Formats: sequence, structure tokens, C-alpha cells
Amino acid sequence: MSLEEIILQIQECKKCRLWQTSTHGVPGEGLANAKVMFVGQNPGSEEDKTGRPFVGRAGKFLTKTIAEFGITREEVYITNIVKHTSPENRKPYPDEVSACLPYLIQQIAIIKPKIVVLLGASAKKTPRVENVKYFEIVHPSAAMRFTKMREKFQTQIAELAKQIK
Ligand code: SF4
Repeated sequence: MSLEEIILQIQECKKCRLWQTSTHGVPGEGLANAKVMFVGQNPGSEEDKTGRPFVGRAGKFLTKTIAEFGITREEVYITNIVKHTSPENRKPYPDEVSACLPYLIQQIAIIKPKIVVLLGASAKKTPRVENVKYFEIVHPSAAMRFTKMREKFQTQIAELAKQIK
């Protein structure tokens, strides 16, 4: 199985109800052998429109902040636990997470990142794989809204940058 094959499978996937209310599947994007993988919960409306992960306001904030610490989007892989958006942006239901999780597990197995960065609530549901370090950080949308969260987020990204250089 390759990353491209996973992308095709996600684009045609009907394993849970979410495909019915989405425009695009959002498989993820980035370097195939990235040292760092960012994992969010599921795509939002901008991501649904474009089929690309983290391109809305929170995604732009994440991209800008990592760049400030010398990490470019091109050198990481960004994806979500659940690959289709949900109606009214609700949290994915447990059966939707279970149906979609095998894609993320395959992506981690292929990319073999050194560090998986878990964004906010995604942390609790992401399966742990041996020999991969997990790093939980504040979700960029919370960091955008609250000063204290933003400071914590910046400190966490600085720490991440130190670990991968
Ligand atoms: S959310 Fe995941 S499991 Fe559900 S249809 Fe989309 S790709 Fe398939």
C-alpha cells in the first residue's frame, strides 16, 4: 500500500456516513518521509471545499507559527484522524472515528515519522504506534483565540523545532 493508494481509497470511501454530507475527502498532504506528522481531528469547511488539510484560518495560523520556528509545511505531513468533514462541524461520532482510523494507522506506518504532533482533542483518539514519539500541543484554533493558549502553543512549537533539528 502506498500513500497515493490510500488517497484514492479515501476519495472513494463510503465506510461511514460522512461522505454523504461532504464535498471532498481530505486525505492529508506533505512529505512522504516527513520527520514530523501533524494530526488534527477532522477537516473543516475550507478543507472540505479544497480537499486539502489545514487551509482555513487555524491551518494558516499553524503554518505561520511553525515557519517562525524554522519548520516549513513542505517538510512535514499534515492530516486528520477522520478524513471527511462532519455536518455543522460537529465532533465525529465514535463509529466514524473507528471506521476512519485504519487510514491514519497506514499513513503512520508508511511515513514512519519520528514525531506525531497531536493537535488538541485529536490527542485522545490517535492510536500509539511503537517507535514513534507523540507530542500533544494546543489546537491552533484555541491558540488563535486566547493569549495564554497562544503563548503555550508557541512554546510547544519551539520545543518541537528543537527536537527535530
Ligand atoms: S470519514 Fe473516513 S471512514 Fe468515513 S467515509 Fe470518509 S474516509 Fe471513509
